[in-house]
Amino acid sequence: MTQYTIALLEGDGIGPEIAREAVKVFKLVEERNDVAFDLRPAPFGAQAYFDCGHPFPDETKAICDAADAIIKGPIGLSHEESKKIPVDMQPERGALLPLRRRYNTFANFRPVSLPRALAHFSPLKPEIIGDGIDLVMVRELVGGLYFGEKEVGVNEAGLRYVKEVLEYDEEQIRRVLHEALQLSMRRKKVLHNIHKSNVLKSSVLWNEVLEEVAQEYPEVEIRHILVDAAATLLCLNPGQFDVMVMENMFGDILSDQGGGILGSLGLMPSACKGPDKSYYEPSHGSAPDIAGQNIANPYSMIGSVAMMLEDSFGMAQESKNVWAAMQSVFGAGFSTPDLSKPGSGVKMINTDEFGDRVVEALAGMPKAG
Ligand code: NAD
Repeated sequence: MTQYTIALLEGDGIGPEIAREAVKVFKLVEERNDVAFDLRPAPFGAQAYFDCGHPFPDETKAICDAADAIIKGPIGLSHEESKKIPVDMQPERGALLPLRRRYNTFANFRPVSLPRALAHFSPLKPEIIGDGIDLVMVRELVGGLYFGEKEVGVNEAGLRYVKEVLEYDEEQIRRVLHEALQLSMRRKKVLHNIHKSNVLKSSVLWNEVLEEVAQEYPEVEIRHILVDAAATLLCLNPGQFDVMVMENMFGDILSDQGGGILGSLGLMPSACKGPDKSYYEPSHGSAPDIAGQNIANPYSMIGSVAMMLEDSFGMAQESKNVWAAMQSVFGAGFSTPDLSKPGSGVKMINTDEFGDRVVEALAGMPKAG
């Protein structure tokens, strides 16, 4: 039997609620396969700061260091509640970015997917959705503005100022482009390069490096789109995209728009790949507006489990089964309230019932050979 150790960082807000459903899936996957998951819960985020004095405590670092992979729920507080934590200890700055830096998780894969049959979940018209939405955003995750030097102070004119540096070297760009090009080779061999080279020098370098790297993938057609235009085209014609690659901040913003065109951020899982270790997390935040009500959509968290099964543990078939189990719950007419639009005929279920139905559907599927 193969054994894997998984650090389980439930996070804040809806994190523990959707993590519970992910754990149900891990347990069933264990039962169905010759595999054992040693799930090691560890504090991370705002609650960790209140309980342990740090949003990424040393004990959590040790658990993550020892794990084969990490699954992480969303972290963070509402705008008002965040003020209870010193700026540098707030969950993104104090925990999330340090996690990414620690494991150098440079490539973030964010699938944006909605089959045609579920077009009613989307705010877009069915004729715009066409055959469905099926694209992957590849976001550079450890460089750019989010990781650059920061300076705050008062300038000579007596005015408060801030300076944040957007920095990339060619190797940081090259490695994420390789990931995106390799993914394009496994898909439709079309890569949309999202940039802002009409204004930003960082995009000029990005595009130069892409020209060099792309020579190693002559079969992949590269299409260049300015990030602002890409935002519009995602709404007007999402079907034209297959793999999209972009730097850190563009990816942060555009991938939330990805959730928007699907109908909910609850449909957005992700994988964050590093050279030695990967971690998996929903793309969305801790949703303080719905926390504690058992109404969050756990698809994003269970989808992150499916990505882990395939990418970290090579369990491609069982991963497909998990995706199919979730789709079957939607296919049977159920969804959590974020996707239950009045008059759409969707039957509303809670977070835990969604998880139970996924597990029931998975249990009924043939086991991987
Ligand atoms: P959010 O992503 O938490 O929520 C935006 C909207 O989407 C809300 O209406 C929320 O209810 C809804 N939503 C999100 N996930 C959902 C789900 N699974 N099911 C149903 N509805 C869902 O964004 P926000 O409110 O701007 O941020 C809240 C906190 O999360 C902030 O502290 C922010 O910094 C943090 N955050 C963390 C991460 C992360 O952990 N990677 C990412 C983004 C934001």
